[in-house]
Amino acid sequence: SHKDFRKAIEIIQHIENSGGEAYIVGGAVRDFLAEREVGDIDIATSLLPERIIEIFDKVIPIGMEHGTVLVRYESASFEVTTYRTESGYKDFRHPDEVKFVNQIEEDLARRDFTMNAIAMDQFGKIIDPYGGADALKNRRIQSVGDPALRFQEDPLRIMRALRFASQLEFTIEDQTIKAIQTYAHLLSHIAVERLAAEFEKMYQGPGYKAGINFCVKTEVVNYLPIFKEHPSTLSLIPKSPLLHFSEVIAFYQFKVSHWTIKEWKRAWKLSNLTRNRTDILLRSLEEYKTSHKVTEWLVYNLDETLYPSFARVLASLGLEELTVKDMLEEQASQLPIHSEKDLEFGAKDLIELKSDLQKGPWIKEGLTQIEYLVVNKQLTNQYSKIKEWAEQWNPPANN
Ligand code: ATP
Ligand code: MG
Repeated sequence: SHKDFRKAIEIIQHIENSGGEAYIVGGAVRDFLAEREVGDIDIATSLLPERIIEIFDKVIPIGMEHGTVLVRYESASFEVTTYRTESGYKDFRHPDEVKFVNQIEEDLARRDFTMNAIAMDQFGKIIDPYGGADALKNRRIQSVGDPALRFQEDPLRIMRALRFASQLEFTIEDQTIKAIQTYAHLLSHIAVERLAAEFEKMYQGPGYKAGINFCVKTEVVNYLPIFKEHPSTLSLIPKSPLLHFSEVIAFYQFKVSHWTIKEWKRAWKLSNLTRNRTDILLRSLEEYKTSHKVTEWLVYNLDETLYPSFARVLASLGLEELTVKDMLEEQASQLPIHSEKDLEFGAKDLIELKSDLQKGPWIKEGLTQIEYLVVNKQLTNQYSKIKEWAEQWNPPANN
């Protein structure tokens, strides 16, 4: 925001008053010049991290060996990184050597794409040795230097190019796209969690269709976990963007059944949060598949916080409009109960009523049936009514 730019400029001024120089760099400059909403603001400086710690009150050392600290300033956070070059990358993950340097131009040279290699000083003056502003004007993603070398150094840049293509709706310059195709196989060296983060961002962007098509065209798909086993799956294009990895899985899982959820989880090393969300979305989709509509039971079992997510999945599949989210909310407000706890007749009452029976799984089963009938308004949530139903209900034998 405007306010954060003001704060970043004050940080730069403090660094300059302390004998150093500093610039705003990276995505913030790119998005500012492209007149897009600016996210995190990163600062590059000639001062060493130890010196930054000295001259600011609140500094968190988040990556001293790479020259990065987090400066807390007026309740906002700014990554401040010493000018540096990188070389090596033998393991395709970490540069073998980080060298601090004195010139901003040298620092810009290590950056991935020309649009990300622009620095801006406190007066708004631009340092742009690689023609990044021009690339922005032409809406083009282009490697800094030789794309073949840059993708071999760090193959994650391949996925970054594709996600930027989606986020910014930019094209990818010819030599850069060729190099993506040539070095796509190096993606197998990248930690799957990092791939997943870029892949997820690709589905979020307004240009996700182009991003996905680039994945197919450049054969990047052959190096993506899961998809590589049936690459044609990626040619199934969602009808609208998806914001979370669980939504992406739900989309493909509804379309094709090549994989089990366990396989998705293992291959993409999904976090517990993503696993849980995927499970819930898929359960709701199953219910939708059987009833061909959003039922009360579906709404009842779907966590309210996932309404927007489920709505996006239905929209991406072309089953509903995105406005189905409002319908979910409306339906939820009409539900007679919102959880098992709201039942007037509970587990205790059921056990008491059937005191001749041994405790067992039948209790849970009975309660679920009561829940189901009440949610569907086939049974009124009244003690006497539910008791009446329970009296004639015979728990399944051997239970
Ligand atoms: P976003 O808006 O998504 O944060 P960003 O461009 O700021 O996009 P970051 O991952 O925050 O992306 O990285 C900040 C900057 O660091 C980039 O703009 C780029 O200059 C540089 N950078 C990040 N990752 C790489 C990489 N893998 N190789 C080279 N430079 C990189
Ligand atoms: Mg950023």
